[in-house]
Amino acid sequence: MFENYKFTAAERFIRYVQIDTQSNPQSLSNPTTEKQKELSKLLAEELKQIGITDAHMDEWGYVYATIPGNTNKKVPVICFCAHVDTAPDCSGTGVKPMVHTNYQGQDIILPDDTTQVLRLSEYPYLQTQKGNDVITASGTTLLGSDDKAGVAEIMDLANFLMMNKELKHGTIKILFTPDEEVGKGTSKVDLKKLGAHFGYTLDGGEAGSLEDETFSADGVQVVIHGVIAHPGYAKDKMINAMKIAGEILAALPKDRLSPESTDGKRGFIHPVRIEGIAEKCTIEFIIRDFETPGLIKKEDYLKTQIEELLRTYPKASFEFKVTEQYRNMKEILDQHPQVVEYAREAIERTGIKMKMESIRGGTDGSRLSFMGLPCPNLFAGEQAIHSKLEFISIHDMNKAVQTMVHLVQIWYERTPSEEEKS
Ligand SMILES: [Zn+2]
Repeated sequence: MFENYKFTAAERFIRYVQIDTQSNPQSLSNPTTEKQKELSKLLAEELKQIGITDAHMDEWGYVYATIPGNTNKKVPVICFCAHVDTAPDCSGTGVKPMVHTNYQGQDIILPDDTTQVLRLSEYPYLQTQKGNDVITASGTTLLGSDDKAGVAEIMDLANFLMMNKELKHGTIKILFTPDEEVGKGTSKVDLKKLGAHFGYTLDGGEAGSLEDETFSADGVQVVIHGVIAHPGYAKDKMINAMKIAGEILAALPKDRLSPESTDGKRGFIHPVRIEGIAEKCTIEFIIRDFETPGLIKKEDYLKTQIEELLRTYPKASFEFKVTEQYRNMKEILDQHPQVVEYAREAIERTGIKMKMESIRGGTDGSRLSFMGLPCPNLFAGEQAIHSKLEFISIHDMNKAVQTMVHLVQIWYERTPSEEEKS
C-alpha cells in the first residue's frame, strides 16, 4: 500500500518546528499566545492545498477539517487530533532542526551548546533507531516533536488519503488545538461542530505505544483556622495556623503516597501550594490515582490525619474542600472497547509491537473522552520531550502515518454494509 508513496511527515515536521508556538500558563487569553495561530493558519492553508475544502482556523486558533468519506457504509466518524503548542518549560524560539542520517549509535553532540549530548546509554530507545534518520534540535531549544510530530503525521495522513482515493474509508475529521501544554487545549473546542464519534490524539512516544489510561485527579484545599492574639499576651491563647500547617506537611508519608516515591499504577497525595498568616493558613493538594475509589481513599486518609492532629488543638478548626479535576479516560473507553481494539490491530498491521501504556497525568484525550469524544492516545514517536535533547526518528513518524491509514481501514472493514445488515 505504501510502496510508491513518498511520506511527507518529516518534511512538514521540519518546517513546522521552526515556527515558535510556545504557550503561556500565565496568559488569560485564548489562545494563550497569538503566535500559535501562525502554525494553525499555515495548517489550514496546506490542508486546502491538499484538497480539503472546509479546512479553516477559528478565532481561538483551532483548526477543523474534514476528509470526506468515499463509501455508502455508515462508518463512525473518526477524528485525529494533535496540539500545535510547545511546552513553556524550554525555549521554542529559533528552533533549528537537524537531521542525523543513518544513525549508528554514536553520541550526538548538539552544535549550539556542546554540553548537550544525546547518548545511547541515557536514551536506550535510540538502540531501536540504528540505521534510521534521527531529528534533533541544535542544543539551545526544545525540538517540538510534542506535538508537531502528531501534527505533521496527521497532515501526511490527509495527503495520503487524498492521493489514494481508491482506499475506502468513512468521514475523517482533523482537529488541531492550541494550549494543550498549559491544560487549556479543550477550553474552546466545539465538539458539536467537529461532529466525530470517536477520536485519537497523536501525542505519544515509542512506536507501537497506545495509551488508554490517565490518572483520575482531584484538588484538595485545606484551610486551617487558628486563634489569633497579641503575641506579647498570647500565652495559652494563640494557636498559630501556619505551625499546624507545618505539622500536617511533616506528617505526610515520605516513602509512599508521594510523587517522589511512586511510579507505575500507584497514586499520591501532593502538596502544591501553601499560603497563610498565623490566623489562617491554606494548603492546596493534588490527589492522583488510576481508580476513582483510590482517589477517595487518599482523600479520607488525608482528612483523618488532619482531624487527629487538630484534636490536640481544640480551639483550632479546618475546612476540607475537594474539587474534581479530571478522570481516568479508561472509564469511558471501556464502554467503547472497539476504539482501543482497532488501534491495537492497526499497530499490529503496521508490523510493530503494540505496547499498552498508562499516562501518569492527564491529557486532552481524557478531557475529550469525558466531553463525549472517547479518545485514546496513539504514538507519534516523540522522545525526551520538553527538553533540549528532544529527538524523533523519521522511521517512527512514518509508522504513525501507516498506523492511522490501517486504522481508518479497519473502521471501514468492521462496519457492516447496508446489505449485510438486512
Ligand atoms: Zn503533547
